Amino acid sequence: MSKRCLTILGATGSIGLSTLDVVRRHPDRFAVYALTAGTRADELAVLCREFRPSVAVMASQEAAERLERLLDDVPETRVLSGKAGLCDVASAREADTVMAAIVGAAGLSPTLAAVRAGKRVLLANKEALVMSGRLFMDAVAESGAELLPIDSEHNAIFQCMPPEHIRDPRAAGVTRILLTASGGPFREHTAAQLRDVSPAEACKHPNWSMGQKISVDSATLMNKGLELIEACWLFNTTPEKIEVHVHPESIIHSMVEYADGSVLAQLGSPDMRTPIANGLAWPERIDAGVAPLDLFAIGRFHFEKPDLHRFPCLALAADAFEAGGTAPAVLNAANEVAVEAFLRGCLRFADIPVIIERTMAATTVVPADSFDTIFSRDAEARRHAREQIALLTV
Ligand code: NAD
Ligand code: MG
Repeated sequence: MSKRCLTILGATGSIGLSTLDVVRRHPDRFAVYALTAGTRADELAVLCREFRPSVAVMASQEAAERLERLLDDVPETRVLSGKAGLCDVASAREADTVMAAIVGAAGLSPTLAAVRAGKRVLLANKEALVMSGRLFMDAVAESGAELLPIDSEHNAIFQCMPPEHIRDPRAAGVTRILLTASGGPFREHTAAQLRDVSPAEACKHPNWSMGQKISVDSATLMNKGLELIEACWLFNTTPEKIEVHVHPESIIHSMVEYADGSVLAQLGSPDMRTPIANGLAWPERIDAGVAPLDLFAIGRFHFEKPDLHRFPCLALAADAFEAGGTAPAVLNAANEVAVEAFLRGCLRFADIPVIIERTMAATTVVPADSFDTIFSRDAEARRHAREQIALLTV
C-alpha cells in the first residue's frame, strides 16, 4: 500500500483538526505534505511540531512571519504566505490528496488549484462549489480530479449510490434524494423568539461541534440551502428531486430513494471523522476513532418538514440555484457578510435573510462564464450587503 500524501487547507479549523485526528491513527497510510491556516500562527505551529510538514502556509504575510519565528527550530518546514502559497501547496506534485477545509469564498482559489492539478480533492468547503457550480464541475471533469464529498449529508448520499453513477443518478434508478437537516439550535423557536438570539446561542449546535460560520448557517438553515445547491452540482440533479427532511437526532446523514421503492440511508454518530475517514481511505474503510452507534440509547427517530417562514434562507438558496448564473455566488457572498456582522453583534439574527434578499434584488444575474466573473460579482455583492447592513443599523 502506497502512502497518501496530504495537503490540509484550513488545518487549524474544526474539519482540519478532525482530519489530523484520523491521520494520527494511521501513520502507515498517510503522510502530511502541507498544513495551512488563516491567522492563527501559534495553533499552526503546534500542528507543525507534531506532523512535520514540508510546507506550512499562513494567509497573511504578517502571520507567516510569526509562524517562521515560532518554527525557528523546525528547519524541515518551509513557511509560505498568501493566496499564491495556498495554491502552491494545493497543486504541488508532492501531494496526491487535498483536504479543502478553508471556510467560505477564501477557499475557492486553492481548492480549484487542487482540482486543476488532478488531485483527490476532499471537499468540505461547500462555498467554493456553491459559488462556481458548473465551472467547478467542468474543471473536475477536465483534469480528472477525484472529487469526494466530506459534508456529512453528501458523503452519505455518495455512500448510498453506485460510484459509477454518482453524476448520473437517473441511470442508477434514483428517484429522490432525502437530504436530512438537524434543524439547528432554534428549531422550536417562534418567529418572535428568533429576532434577538445571540451569537453564542446560535453557535451552540445541539449535535455537532463546528466552526462559527457554519454553526450560524445551521441556525438560519442557510447551511441546508448551500447543501441543496452543493448536492445539485455533485450529483447532477435539481432541487425538485431533493427533499429536505428535518431529523433532529442527526443520526441518518441522508437517504437515496430508488425507483423500486427502496430507500438507502447512511447512519452514524454525528462525528465528522466518519465522512473524513471515508474520503481519505475510499474505497477502503479505516478506523476513524468514532464510537459505535448505540441505537438502543437513541431510541427514536423523528422527521419534520422545514418551516420556510421562520427559516427563509433555505428558500432563498433554492431561488438562487433556479436563477442560475452568478446568483448562487451573490447569495453566498451576502450570507458571509451578514453572518460576520451578526457574529460581531452588528446585525440581528432575523435580519440575516433580509440582507441576503436585498443584496440579491440589487444585483443583476449574469452568466457565470468565467471565474473572474464569479469573483467580481462576489465583490460587488459584498459591497451591497455592507451598504444594506449600514442602512439597517443607523
Ligand atoms: P473553521 O472556522 O473551524 O476553520 C476554518 C479554517 O480555515 C481554519 O483553519 C482557518 O484558519 C482557515 N481560514 C479561515 N479564513 C481563511 C482565509 N481567508 N484564508 C485562508 N485560510 C482561512 O471552519 P470549519 O467548521 O472547519 O469548516 C470548514 C469548511 O468545512 C466550511 O466550508 C464548512 O462549511 C465545511 N464543513 C464543516 C463541517 C464541520 O463539522 N465543521 C461540516 C461540513 C462542512
Ligand atoms: Mg452538512
